[in-house]
Amino acid sequence: MRQGRLFVISGPSGAGKGTICDVLKKDPSFGLSVSMTTRAPREGEVEGVNYYFVSRREFKKMIAEDGFLEYAGIYRNFYGTPKKPVMEMLAGGKDVILEIEMQGAVNVKRSFPEAVLIFVLPPSLAVLRGRLAGRGTETEEQIALRTKTSLEEIGRLPEYDYFVFNDDLDDAVETVYAIVRGEGEANRVEGRADAIIQRFKEENDAFISGGR
Ligand code: 5GP
Repeated sequence: MRQGRLFVISGPSGAGKGTICDVLKKDPSFGLSVSMTTRAPREGEVEGVNYYFVSRREFKKMIAEDGFLEYAGIYRNFYGTPKKPVMEMLAGGKDVILEIEMQGAVNVKRSFPEAVLIFVLPPSLAVLRGRLAGRGTETEEQIALRTKTSLEEIGRLPEYDYFVFNDDLDDAVETVYAIVRGEGEANRVEGRADAIIQRFKEENDAFISGGR
């Protein structure tokens, strides 16, 4: 039996990786990984479906037992991908999709070089800023800081295998399917990263010099 492949979908926050993955998670041909987290469940979240909600002590025990494929600390909480279920799905021939933040994505590649890393890009920084401003909870200063962080994160694009612009959701999902089918040549990062990063930098410079 052929071994399944591991696809990791990541990118800056606000780029929309979650929305893309929500669609992919409904496709039964993909194996689903349920992460473990120390953060408290939000309303409507179900144990074993959205996450396994555990204490810091349980999380640390899992680290000590080498039970994670990767894990990361985000906003004072820990998130990790349990290794065993993923390895079992891959061995059973299932392709698995992980939706994780960027530090974890890069760590997966270190311990599992065959993993295919997909970077979800916003169509522009203006769209990212618009999404943040739309929440109405963030000050101008916070938005500027978040944009700067996103720009730095986009700078890590060369560590990924493929990029997907999240302009239109259907198009973005179709692009991920093309990559999974091995037809994602047009979305390979190699040879294109500098131009993409430069485009976002120029947009940011224009924004700053515009004094807005
Ligand atoms: P949230 O708390 O909103 O559910 O998730 C916060 C962030 O943690 C998101 O960017 C999500 O992709 C990421 N995340 C969820 N599970 C994992 C995981 O197992 N490992 C890593 N590294 N990040 C995760």
